[in-house]
Amino acid sequence: MKLGTGTTVITNGQIVDGNGNPPVPNGAVVIRDGRITFVGPAAGLPPLPDGTIRIDAMGGTIMPGLVEAHFHPTYFNVAALEDLDIKYPVEYVTLLAAGNARLALECGYTSARSGGSLFNIDVWLKKAIENDLVIGPRIAASGREICGVAGLMDWNPDYRKIGMEGLVLLINGADEARAAVRKLVKDGVEWVKTYPTGDAAAPDVNDHHTLCMTLEEMQAVVQTAHNHGLKVTGHCRATEGIRNALLAGYDAIEHGTFIDDETLELLLKRNVPVVPALYFEYASIQLGPDFGMPQAVIDGHQETLDGGAASARRIFEAGGRLGMGGDYGFAWNPHGDYARELEFFVSFVGLKPLDVLKCATRTGAEILGRAHEIGTLEPGKLGDVLVVEGDVVADISILQDQSKLIAVLQSGIVKSRRGQSISPSAIS
Ligand SMILES: [Zn+2]
Repeated sequence: MKLGTGTTVITNGQIVDGNGNPPVPNGAVVIRDGRITFVGPAAGLPPLPDGTIRIDAMGGTIMPGLVEAHFHPTYFNVAALEDLDIKYPVEYVTLLAAGNARLALECGYTSARSGGSLFNIDVWLKKAIENDLVIGPRIAASGREICGVAGLMDWNPDYRKIGMEGLVLLINGADEARAAVRKLVKDGVEWVKTYPTGDAAAPDVNDHHTLCMTLEEMQAVVQTAHNHGLKVTGHCRATEGIRNALLAGYDAIEHGTFIDDETLELLLKRNVPVVPALYFEYASIQLGPDFGMPQAVIDGHQETLDGGAASARRIFEAGGRLGMGGDYGFAWNPHGDYARELEFFVSFVGLKPLDVLKCATRTGAEILGRAHEIGTLEPGKLGDVLVVEGDVVADISILQDQSKLIAVLQSGIVKSRRGQSISPSAIS
């Protein structure tokens, strides 16, 4: 990804730095050659050279680019999980993923951690974005997802010939777990996504199902992944699955829905971040019936929402880290709605807007493993900045309105204005 050249100054807005600090009124940010050189009150601005590009925040907000911490660019707004396997060939899914990446950037998301990918598309999408072939968030890529045979992602009897081969590597035992990770190493992923537990979406392996992977298989995944410098995360809803993931040495927990005191203590001790993805549950309950979702599944989503919100609140109040990632890419939870997760954490879970903004920027960068370069507005960091019309602390829902996004910058380059991307050939 190219670094900007020259100097850019953004003025006339409050600064929300991503660290959770109170906003700095009438602030300014200076970016030089792609990196932030000044953040603070406009009164303290250093002299600026001729030719400085000026961006007016119009009395709104200057903040770090958002981080989507559970991103599935290859999920093409499917109404049923099996559509991922049978609807389109890899060539077309790749193009759809590039479109979703562009959309995420236009929505203010300058970075994303992928939470599982069809085929090995996310790795190559990441390379295409880094090489400025297409625009999108900086991606920490995962690949095919690892699941035990007959687990959450392997619900179809063999005669239906829906094997989910594009999405999952099915394993039996620790040796196959190691083999699956080694394949992902060769594929070039940074994150290994696994399925330790079930989900409300699959009544046969519901939220409390813990046997999609054994502890032994999870330990084999982690040992092999860590040997190769990869990180491991997992879809963990049932408390036993969360506990096993923590015991096995997972680097992040997706969902963390039902967590008991003992497991919470272990989570806090290891300081492992959790990405709850709760708006997904709300959207499933509200819109699922329109897509033929059975009542038993809706009821399961309600239980997941209630349990997940309570757990997220407990984790945050106890000093744990939460990432904002929404599992977007389903018909009822489509790409482009990413920032709904943020409003939902204020209105439903009860977090303060500044805390949610910190989760969606700094903590997201920590989950990506790039907190030294992105996630907050600080001198020395890359110029990944979002300029928003309006006060996002007073009304976080503004972030859902692409027309309010005055500018989205990556490495100091304006990539999108008012929710409309600038074609790569026009980016200089
Ligand atoms: Zn997911």
